[in-house]
Amino acid sequence: MTALQKNFIAGDWVDGSGITRDINPSNTNDVVGEYAKADKAQTEKAIAAAKGAFPAWSRSTPQERFDALNRISTEILARKEELGRLLAREEGKTLPEGIGEVARAGQIFAFFAGEALRLMGEKGASVRPGLEVEITREPVGVVGMITPWNFPIAIPAWKIAPALCYGNTVVFKPAELVPGSAHALSEIIARSGLPAGVFNLVVGSGSVVGQTLLEHPDVSAISFTGSVATGRKIAQACVLSNPMKKFQLEMGGKNPLVVLDDADLKVAVEVAVNGAYFSTGQRCTASSRLIVTSGIHDRFVAAMTERMKGLSVGDALKSGVHVGPVVDQSQLDQDLRYIKIGQDEGARLYWGGELLNRETPGFYLQPALFTEANNAMRIAREEIFGPVACVIRAKDYEEALAISNDTEFGLASGICTTSLKYASHYKRNSEAGMVMVNLPTAGVDYHVPFGGRKGSSYGAREQGSYAREFYTTVKTAYANPG
Ligand code: NAP
Ligand code: MG
Repeated sequence: MTALQKNFIAGDWVDGSGITRDINPSNTNDVVGEYAKADKAQTEKAIAAAKGAFPAWSRSTPQERFDALNRISTEILARKEELGRLLAREEGKTLPEGIGEVARAGQIFAFFAGEALRLMGEKGASVRPGLEVEITREPVGVVGMITPWNFPIAIPAWKIAPALCYGNTVVFKPAELVPGSAHALSEIIARSGLPAGVFNLVVGSGSVVGQTLLEHPDVSAISFTGSVATGRKIAQACVLSNPMKKFQLEMGGKNPLVVLDDADLKVAVEVAVNGAYFSTGQRCTASSRLIVTSGIHDRFVAAMTERMKGLSVGDALKSGVHVGPVVDQSQLDQDLRYIKIGQDEGARLYWGGELLNRETPGFYLQPALFTEANNAMRIAREEIFGPVACVIRAKDYEEALAISNDTEFGLASGICTTSLKYASHYKRNSEAGMVMVNLPTAGVDYHVPFGGRKGSSYGAREQGSYAREFYTTVKTAYANPG
């Protein structure tokens, strides 16, 4: 057992007021680590440290920011195997998925190192004679970050990197389920040469640490990723706080994948299996509604089932495993509850959905495929967040598109087709923030915007150069040079 891992506040590693245990979902006897939990007073200290560090960091040079972000990137990438193993061990995605996520975090820091050098303003003519107008971007202030458990390093990276890049200071609250990756990332950031207080880690619950960030007047902005229910609370708190806080919310999904008669069946099955079940279906961009037109429906279901039979579900760290365990007991209970709801609603549990026993005690669930579902069913409307997908039959493209858009969410969507006409029409008419053609709904680049619409997202986009919309505030300056 390793020593208790501490919080990082004002440049020091400090003890907390409680302990959170990080459990391996592939083997619940394996304690990944023990982490100090911060309380309200410590969270307030972290906010004060971030506030104190802001004036100097907000005026730091692009070179200082580049150097820090570049060092962070270099260390993450150099240690991607080790960090990927830690991530897979605490969260349950497979080792290759864990390593891939860590690599992505490293690339995000590299991208924003470069962005620090590229931030430019504008200068224009005034409509009034003799005057000058300048438009510049300034950092927002102290940014609180509240993140979910399913991407324990990539999501923190895509918030922390742009925040630091544009001169903000940070208080980071990771999900309590995954303190290990957050702690490892924070150690790397702590070594990067940033002045004390610029970056702070506070591990703890949403109701204590999260709530303190939301209520504190010195926190200027909140970047949140998580469920819709929590997102609503965040929005309310940000609006009620005085002054109001800037906020961005990335939330749930019920992402559709349309499969048309003219699709390449092999491609469609790979895209569907990846989108629905990889990372144990625990991705906000997972495809949980497979909307399949009549001419290919039966062939698609048969090929899907064959492909699912070949998926190996097991210990996330073992080689050859395609699908790791569900993250914890409460998520597993939710998945099983929805499998029951689907059956009660009259959908047919066509394949999977069984609890599995493996060598070690863990939350192993066979990926589940429902057929004969319709879009009014709860399994087609509510986010399950597990390896559970349903097939909805559509008579043609037009009906498939209508079903695809008939959801309160709008994060990602996809279509499998060999028709340029339908692909183009779908890209334009799908009501989602990200649209994929012959590609899984999950799996995105790091240098372009990420985000959704409708109930899935609120506020400015994350990632790529679009991230500056959230992490900067615009100033318009007028001058009369005389
Ligand atoms: P969650 O339960 O909403 O938790 C997200 C974060 O909010 C956690 O750090 C949580 O702390 C914190 N929190 C909970 N209640 C809070 C409160 N009252 N005040 C302040 N903070 C609070 O979400 P999750 O279960 O971790 O993650 C799964 C969800 O995330 C899914 O809905 C998924 O779709 C969504 N997600 C969205 C995206 C996207 O980009 N759109 C990406 C990934 C995941 P605790 O540690 O105490 O739980
Ligand atoms: Mg949670």
